[in-house]
Amino acid sequence: MSHANAKDPWQEMLKRFNEAARRLSLDENVWKILSEPDLELKVSVPVVMDNGKVEVFTGYRVQHSRAMGPCKGGIRYDINVNLAEVKALAAWMTWKCSVVNLPFGGGKGGVIVDPSKLSMRELEMLTRRYTAAIADIIGPDRDVPAPDVGTNDKVMAWVLDTYSMRKGENCSAVVTGKPLLLGGSRGRADATGRGVFDILQHAANRFRVDLRSARVVVQGFGNVGATSARYFHEAGIKVVGISDVRGAVYNANGIDITKLREWVAKNKFVVGYPDAQAIDPKDLLTLPCDVLVPAAVENQITEENAGKIQAKLIIEGANGPTTDEADKILEAKGVQVVPDILANAGGVTVSYFEWVQDRMGFFWPEAEVNQRLDEVMHRSFQEVADMAAKNKTSLRIGAYMLSVDRVAQVYKLRGIYA
Ligand code: GLU
Repeated sequence: MSHANAKDPWQEMLKRFNEAARRLSLDENVWKILSEPDLELKVSVPVVMDNGKVEVFTGYRVQHSRAMGPCKGGIRYDINVNLAEVKALAAWMTWKCSVVNLPFGGGKGGVIVDPSKLSMRELEMLTRRYTAAIADIIGPDRDVPAPDVGTNDKVMAWVLDTYSMRKGENCSAVVTGKPLLLGGSRGRADATGRGVFDILQHAANRFRVDLRSARVVVQGFGNVGATSARYFHEAGIKVVGISDVRGAVYNANGIDITKLREWVAKNKFVVGYPDAQAIDPKDLLTLPCDVLVPAAVENQITEENAGKIQAKLIIEGANGPTTDEADKILEAKGVQVVPDILANAGGVTVSYFEWVQDRMGFFWPEAEVNQRLDEVMHRSFQEVADMAAKNKTSLRIGAYMLSVDRVAQVYKLRGIYA
């Protein structure tokens, strides 16, 4: 699932943005502004390792657009992190927040590190030093990080503590996706997967895919892949293939996701799971299936494998899993692709609810969070599908048009500060 040396994600993002901008006849000044991030910060992160030696890691925080409100977006710990990737991920957050109509701009952070190679102490030191290095540009009204690939609620707790200690006051709204006891929201951990499941149901309904007989393949078994697969399984939808960073498994009769999760809890990886056959992860995306859910990283569906994809419907749980060239091949084949900026927006939507609850100091029951999330996903799906139908475009370009237009309206109202 490596994405090193692959297409530059920032360029892939720009191609879609430019196409939407062309179709919208976007104001050329707004077009220029949105073609570059508002701010790119690169920081050195020295950490005293357990062996007593200092290692210096490289970190980034990019704020793509601050026009809509505070920036919002995760922090990624991954060995393949690079500036082009963080810039693309930040811009996707701008479009994502706008698609689902949240009062946030887009930001993203990343550190070049393999977190599985760090001890718990090293991970904490890395997180605290990285937080200190970006502390001047984040904050509840500036830029609000959250988990992403390689980070989790524990990492968010350290970000919260470091930031709050520096401020001398408790700042729970500086991050989302944190533990419940620190002001996290009920439903946040499952929110991206739940949103993917919501979108699958709406898309299946609209594009006439019968979920009672559908076979689903999920790429990735991290937070998004594993939670989506759990929702599918609980709803009686058959998941036939799953992969993770190490390998992939397939069972044409369906995989019992509850049992697979128990297996992974003990053995860490899906490979070796007894009730399925091990397959080459390269073959996963082209397996016979009706629905494909890429829920890993960028650049997985490319011009090399897009022609061989058998699914009729793709729901993008990951950010940027499909290249622009692959989009064109899929469109020509009549495959419907529900784009990342809509399909995986459940996470940031509940992050918004978390931020609201922190600022109110009043916390909602899980049923209320889930109900509000389902409403946002439903409304946003209809808006995107209607926009795409009206303009005779793919769902992706429809989603970009909807979101870019909203951001452009905000720029028009605010004007350029001089
Ligand atoms: N990392 C997630 C995403 O890519 C969540 C971001 C957030 O909640 O701010 O959407």
